[in-house]
Amino acid sequence: MKNATDSDGVKTTCPYCGVGCGVVAGRGADHSFTTTGDVTHPANFGRLCSKGSALNETLSLESRLLHPEIEGRCASWPEALDRVASDLTRVRDTHGPDAIAFYLSGQLLTEDYYVANKLAKGFIGTPHVDTNSRLCMASSVAGHKRAFGEDIVPQCYDDLEQADLIILAGSNTAWCHPVLYQRIQKARQERGTKVVVIDPRRTATCEGADLHLAITPGTDQHLWNGLFVALADRGRIDFQYIRARTEGFAKALAVARNENATLLKTARNTGLLAADVKTFFNWWCDTEKVVSCYSQGINQSHQGTDKVNAILNCHLATGRIGKVGCGPLSLTGQPNAMGGREVGGLANMLAAHMGFSDAEREIVGTFWDAPNLVTGEGLKAVQMFDAIAEGRIKALWVMGTNPAVSLPRADEMRANLSKLDTLIVSENVSVNDTVVAAGIRLPASAWSEKDGTVTNSERRISRQRGFVEPAGEARPDWWIMQEVAQRLGYRDGFSYTGPAEIFREHARLSGFKNDGERVFNISALADITDQDFNDLEPIQWPVTDSHPDGVARLFNDTAFPTPNGLARLLPIENPTLAEKVSDDWPMLMNTGRIRDQWHTMTRTGLTARLSTHLPEPFISLHPKDAATHDIAANDIVVAETRHGRMVARARLTDDQKPGDVFAPIHWSGTNASDARIGALLTGPADPVSGQPEAKAMPSRISRLPVTFHGRIFSRKPAAPQNTAYWSLAKTSFGTATTFATTAETVDWNAWAAQVLPDGETVMFEDADMSVFRMAVFHDGRLEAVLTVSNQYQSTSPAWLESAFSGTFQTAAERRGVLSGQTLDGQPDEGPIVCVCYQVGANTIATAIASGSGTPEAVGKTTCAGTNCGSCVPELRRLINQTAKSKQNTAAKVVVEAAE
Ligand code: SF4
Repeated sequence: MKNATDSDGVKTTCPYCGVGCGVVAGRGADHSFTTTGDVTHPANFGRLCSKGSALNETLSLESRLLHPEIEGRCASWPEALDRVASDLTRVRDTHGPDAIAFYLSGQLLTEDYYVANKLAKGFIGTPHVDTNSRLCMASSVAGHKRAFGEDIVPQCYDDLEQADLIILAGSNTAWCHPVLYQRIQKARQERGTKVVVIDPRRTATCEGADLHLAITPGTDQHLWNGLFVALADRGRIDFQYIRARTEGFAKALAVARNENATLLKTARNTGLLAADVKTFFNWWCDTEKVVSCYSQGINQSHQGTDKVNAILNCHLATGRIGKVGCGPLSLTGQPNAMGGREVGGLANMLAAHMGFSDAEREIVGTFWDAPNLVTGEGLKAVQMFDAIAEGRIKALWVMGTNPAVSLPRADEMRANLSKLDTLIVSENVSVNDTVVAAGIRLPASAWSEKDGTVTNSERRISRQRGFVEPAGEARPDWWIMQEVAQRLGYRDGFSYTGPAEIFREHARLSGFKNDGERVFNISALADITDQDFNDLEPIQWPVTDSHPDGVARLFNDTAFPTPNGLARLLPIENPTLAEKVSDDWPMLMNTGRIRDQWHTMTRTGLTARLSTHLPEPFISLHPKDAATHDIAANDIVVAETRHGRMVARARLTDDQKPGDVFAPIHWSGTNASDARIGALLTGPADPVSGQPEAKAMPSRISRLPVTFHGRIFSRKPAAPQNTAYWSLAKTSFGTATTFATTAETVDWNAWAAQVLPDGETVMFEDADMSVFRMAVFHDGRLEAVLTVSNQYQSTSPAWLESAFSGTFQTAAERRGVLSGQTLDGQPDEGPIVCVCYQVGANTIATAIASGSGTPEAVGKTTCAGTNCGSCVPELRRLINQTAKSKQNTAAKVVVEAAE
């Protein structure tokens, strides 16, 4: 094992997506923190995406919860912990242990997850422990268990560099797993690997693809069933493997043939061109080394588990699994969703990949010496919050997640929180939609402060190491729970000295009475010393005496963890959407992540750089739908489903299919007026996995009749009053607030007096009152600028950056601020594309117009794309768009000449 700290800094892992990149946290020449990619980490070999590269900019104490709070007042730790213990005891004694629930997060470390699960399921005696991974990957878990007998990802990232064909199903990999996307693109360039994207939207990922299948939402089973039939009809089934290693083949194939007997039928069922389906089938059938990656587009569905098994069927039928460059690979959303799954963080798992059979309960109960071991599964996320409304759950402890924003029917779920007797929240942040509802707020250590392990999408356990002191009175989650456990009388089971001891116990349990029935086994790490734990190098489980260095791939030549050792092919019925479009709800809404933000922006929202790419909540729609609804680009749009509404900026794009709309998941009640996407999610859950639908919801859109568009650039966040829409974004000098009104007339002078800070003002209003501008100064320093117009104007904060750092002595200088020009005379960058070097679309367009015809050439001229590389797909898109429009112009000239 190698030392975790060297002269370059502390080795840790990125807290965002499931790629699990290694990060080195160090100090720059000015002693400020730096975060760079760890060149020795096998997930990223030194690469980081835009989010990972900006980690060092997120370490401020701004918005941190620093002290325990009870009913809004600061409390000491002993008082807060006593109160948690007494509330839980009261609820348990009055209503039984089933009235207590824990809602956890893929952001927690494995050790925190382990303690929460043990406390709830073994000692308090409530089975109701679930996690936000339910919203993210539960369908993959269920699909793996149905096919393999255990929740196992058989492949590793190296396979992406060894494959000849990579399928990206329901995955905007370029934005959601950017470092893996870069590894895929390297393989494409170096060995000619073909890439197929299956996604209703033409995403940035398609810029590096050889084929894009813009599938009709919810029809993935048809495509994979059709492929299964094609594999059979073209003699590509590996019957030796089928006979020796699997069961269920004949029935699965027979069901797949229903409705998908021919390529044409598959094309019709999926809304794809027959030629494209044929190409996909040809490539998949004729390429031995194929990796099928799948992510939220598959999982977040009413039929997510079936979709996963439809993919696994094709790999099992051809024996293309567990081999170099060949197999299915689920791309996990969160940094430690996998670790949570390992310890039993999901309501339908007990611990260490064990369920609730008598034998498994006996193993776990004995190992924990548990006084109150639960007897069966608990409520899954959506059920849990519905049970609160029904009065069955009385006490809820939320850790590191924001269900009031992220759950389906989020308005209803947020209201449910008020029905609890006790809401306890362990959090980093002082304000979010869930924290503000909590009676007891416990400050938890954040990334950069806490210590433990996480597991990424390829089963690789990596250390997350602290490198700064905890902020205020923040404590690790495991410590908080241990203190409560001791107050509940469970001192014996909860007297850990630190995360190393918890990890050792977790490792011991994985090997306890495990004669090979459970593949999840890290028992070779059960006796590591604290120093070994500190120095632990990234390693892929299982880690056993026979495989002390871990295992890269599984199931090539080993039995599956089913009772008979055989994998199962599942009969996958034809899909039907849980909710169909209708005259009232004619559009299908899809949701997802954007490139530079993470979850509800509590960390990424702290950096100005990451807020420049897509600073506002938006709704993407096709120009034809926009025309039908009288919507123009940058209008403010209302999107509604049966459960809620959101208000956001319209983005018109033919990347979106007509009839579909897309909205990002990141905005919450703290940074936008009405952009909580969870409020719109109708949430019918997959019957097997319990994962709610988030990709195909019947909806409708309309234009908000805006009278004025405005922006406030200010040092402190402004609170725009009487507006129909607002959103906030971080800037280098403070905050940019965007708003829109629907009132016919507004006295902007009076409005500004209420909203802007006090100070000396300069003002401009044009004759017809269609434009209003005001700037506020204090001691010659610019405090705020307000711009209002009856037309939308693409104003980026860049033109004011130098103004907020300068001083303005004369009236003429102050009036100059209202000119709308960059003060240093530089041209406006336009919308920022490259956040690393803050290069905007206008600069890139100039470079392309001057002959830069590749991302590399644009990078040489402008620096764009030359650091983290996350914007390279967009550079490629801008280059292609320019080439296309040149061709169109040339064609028009030819036609006109001919006429
Ligand atoms: Fe973090 Fe980006 Fe790596 Fe994901 S790809 S782990 S967000 S650096």
